[in-house]
Amino acid sequence: QALVVPRAEHCISRKQIDENTLKVLYRLRRHGYQAYLVGGGVRDLLLGRQPKDFDVATDATPEQVKGLFRNCFLVGRRFRLAHIRFAGNYLVEVATFRRQPRPEELPADTDEHFFFTENVFGSPREDAFRRDFSINGLFYNIEDFSVIDHVGGLQDLADRRLRVIGDPLVRFTEDPVRMLRALEFTARLGFNLDESVRQAIYLRAPLIAEAATARIREELMELFRHKVAAPVLRDAQSLGLLPHLLGGFEGEVETFELLEQIDRRTDSGRPIEEHLALAALFLERYRHACQAQEIQTIGDAIRIANHLLVPHCGYFRISNAIRHQARELLVGFFRLARGRGRRGEGRFLRHPFASASVELFSLWSEASGREQELAADWRQAIEGIADPSAKKKQGEAT
Ligand code: ATP
Ligand code: MG
Repeated sequence: QALVVPRAEHCISRKQIDENTLKVLYRLRRHGYQAYLVGGGVRDLLLGRQPKDFDVATDATPEQVKGLFRNCFLVGRRFRLAHIRFAGNYLVEVATFRRQPRPEELPADTDEHFFFTENVFGSPREDAFRRDFSINGLFYNIEDFSVIDHVGGLQDLADRRLRVIGDPLVRFTEDPVRMLRALEFTARLGFNLDESVRQAIYLRAPLIAEAATARIREELMELFRHKVAAPVLRDAQSLGLLPHLLGGFEGEVETFELLEQIDRRTDSGRPIEEHLALAALFLERYRHACQAQEIQTIGDAIRIANHLLVPHCGYFRISNAIRHQARELLVGFFRLARGRGRRGEGRFLRHPFASASVELFSLWSEASGREQELAADWRQAIEGIADPSAKKKQGEAT
């Protein structure tokens, strides 16, 4: 029933698979188990992209996997996964094929829409069907190097289409985080969102507020890391998902424009930090609040930043350290927006967050087309601080 594409008819070569993952696949195979490469790794290789990581699925139980590898640890409370450690902190994750449980198999106290952690062992085919999207449900079989497609993922890859496995309404109700993932993969791969998926997100949007906040926080950071925060949150806005995702988030045009700059910055190789993502998400509202209340003092600027950040960070259980850093960026922005030549400027420019604030100010300036001269001035001032010889040269020139 599955489509099996032999080695000669697809582009995945073993040379593209990392050697530790290959070792794991071969060893499982040698001991008589089935061993597949699964998920995002197969999808990315078929698209000619560099996979972020490789996941392995097998019919060996976690205990059997542990018996085969010296550096193997079992993790996970409900569904046990095998983690095999290699030199250089390299980790290969091996999961036993599983399926979605039938409703009567679920414990009575399941409080979340989080069925997929409750999975039980299943067949390879069942394992393909419990996955989220058809393009994420493809297998690469180490036995004969074929690609196995139970879910129509190859056709969807060819059509550049993101399709949910099964009924999107049902799958989004089971696990609402899939709605955000759908938008994320569509943006990352430049695919089209299936109309049925779009409809289902629109209808099930409120459910995302019930998902575990730790997972939402993690998926949100994935958007920033993959440089798709702007397009995904825009889509989320147009489908009515955004307000349920980030309680009360307005989705101002200016915010999306700033997020585009942030995505571009990440694309140029700068790692994204959560405090910068937070400051960017809140900057527009912060600016408005400062203006509306005609804020003059740093004390008030701090109060406004806290007023915005504390509830959000509390809800997502973001640490005080990260919240503090985001606040420093916002308050720094306020200082910078007031212009040059104020009392205490020299001291501020030596503040550990000054250069990050100047960067945020520049990104905002670039996004909005405003205060570009001031932003350039601040950049020059901060460079002078970072490199005193530059300041001297500049002084000599004028
Ligand atoms: P990448 O790692 O490049 O972001 P990925 O496809 O590997 O993409 P992961 O989050 O690493 O994504 O998940 C690995 C695989 O597990 C997915 O490809 C998918 O098959 C399955 N999966 C992940 N999350 C879910 C979910 N919420 N519901 C169903 N299946 C999921
Ligand atoms: Mg992955």
